[in-house]
Amino acid sequence: MSKFIGYRCSLCGQDYLPGEVTYTCPKDGGNLDVVLDYDAIRNKYQPEDIVSRADPSLWRYLPLLPVPEVDGGPSPLHVAGGTPVFDLSRLGQKLGLKRLWLKDESLEDSANLPAPGVIAAEIMEDLEAALEQFREIAMNLGWGSGKNSLLEISQCLETDG
Ligand SMILES: [Zn+2]
Repeated sequence: MSKFIGYRCSLCGQDYLPGEVTYTCPKDGGNLDVVLDYDAIRNKYQPEDIVSRADPSLWRYLPLLPVPEVDGGPSPLHVAGGTPVFDLSRLGQKLGLKRLWLKDESLEDSANLPAPGVIAAEIMEDLEAALEQFREIAMNLGWGSGKNSLLEISQCLETDG
């Protein structure tokens, strides 16, 4: 039994079989949502079946995807997904955020990487831009002049939060 049942139009709700339509609903142009047999998936797979997979790409979630296994070993499709994500909990804590993650998409085109100094400069630029946005938010919340240091903003968050 296939886990992939077909498609459902996001506008009119019309169901279609796999292969019956492509991309959009022929009646109204609505986007097609994939319809999966969740009962079959639930009966066949356990969370450990996903977690235990070593593939860091999106193919780790193959049991939940509406596509069959690709035969013949690794394919270029196994490059998609698995973008490194870093937990910036200390910075997040200073900003009063429960969670702060940084998704590093700089390695997605590894054949054309800039020099390490350029990467470091871009990261610092991004962090400074993020800090400036936080300062603006803090100023809009009445937590200072907008020129506050990160420490001053975090003290305001501790006082108000
Ligand atoms: Zn439709």
